[in-house]
Amino acid sequence: MRDVIIIGSGPAGLTAAIYAARANLKPLVFEGLQPGGQLTITTEVENYPGFKEGITGPALMDEMRNQAERFGSEHVYDLVTKVDFSASPFKVWVGETMHEAKSVIISTGASARWLGIDAEKRLQGRGVSACATCDGFFFRDQHVAVVGGGDSAMEEATFLTRFASKVTVVHRRDELRASKIMAERALKNEKIEFVWDSTVDDILGEDQVTGIRVRNLKSGEVTDLPMDGIFMAVGHVPNTDVFKGQIALDGKGYVVATEQTRTSVAGVFVAGDVVDTKYKQAITAAGWGCMAALDAQKYLESLED
Ligand SMILES: Cc1cc2nc3c(=O)[nH]c(=O)nc-3n(C[C@H](O)[C@H](O)[C@H](O)COP(=O)(O)OP(=O)(O)OC[C@H]3O[C@@H](n4cnc5c(N)ncnc54)[C@H](O)[C@@H]3O)c2cc1C
Repeated sequence: MRDVIIIGSGPAGLTAAIYAARANLKPLVFEGLQPGGQLTITTEVENYPGFKEGITGPALMDEMRNQAERFGSEHVYDLVTKVDFSASPFKVWVGETMHEAKSVIISTGASARWLGIDAEKRLQGRGVSACATCDGFFFRDQHVAVVGGGDSAMEEATFLTRFASKVTVVHRRDELRASKIMAERALKNEKIEFVWDSTVDDILGEDQVTGIRVRNLKSGEVTDLPMDGIFMAVGHVPNTDVFKGQIALDGKGYVVATEQTRTSVAGVFVAGDVVDTKYKQAITAAGWGCMAALDAQKYLESLED
């Protein structure tokens, strides 16, 4: 029987592991299919405090894991396939193997939705991004595209005009889904142009984005537009399939936090992008991980009273 099981090993999970391990709770961390989380697919991280010159995503996550292991956290490089939170101790399965714990921290993140075209993977970090806050800075005086028509697409496009010389929003409809205020702000911005009724069929460039191939859904016309970068803003998918029916999730599948890191089940806590519909940054996920571990520690103490 464990005191704490942590599901997920991004900045949220590994920070929770550091705190739980230093509190002598000997956490067991399930790292999932992407050990280290989303940052392992990026190159430079320039906005994580403490690294003046920046640090690569994989190196940052290795540091976090080493720090947690130094204090005694244990790591399993496997995917949690089933949970039972109906009664304490909570049960967590990896395939046929069942683990039990008095408390659980969920930090399974949320994956950006991609378009599903081959070039996306090849050119990720080479002009293809899903996070303007993270990567906008790299596109000073360049021309970038944003795909999407919702609030986050308008927010990304508007933010990118701080750096880019021009931002082209490609949207599959002839009007925006974004709220009126966000849409108006983008439509009024002279640096933003719109390509309506269109999808991105391909991203051009061998080692670096050089353009995008856009198809007009009404006329069928295909056009290549020169471009230095492309930002996907077509939403995120929280990794919560395994928790369905076990804890409260919102309409989009994000874990509902009833109070800070508490979920609908006492003793099950949540941290990071899997609960965060707003900030989605490594530092906020790490902060959440710290909070979840401290809350789990308090909860465990309360069981002893
Ligand atoms: C390309 C890219 C670049 C980015 N650059 C920056 C940046 O420069 N600065 C910044 O602050 N943020 C950046 N971000 C955002 C940042 O990566 C995320 O906000 C952060 O990683 C969220 O951390 P997390 O711990 O909540 O989840 P994640 O990092 O998403 O980690 C989720 C973890 O859960 C695990 N998991 C999922 N399901 C299961 C399961 N069933 N069982 C076990 N484990 C499971 C996964 O394997 C993974 O380890 C970037 C994101 C991307 C995609």
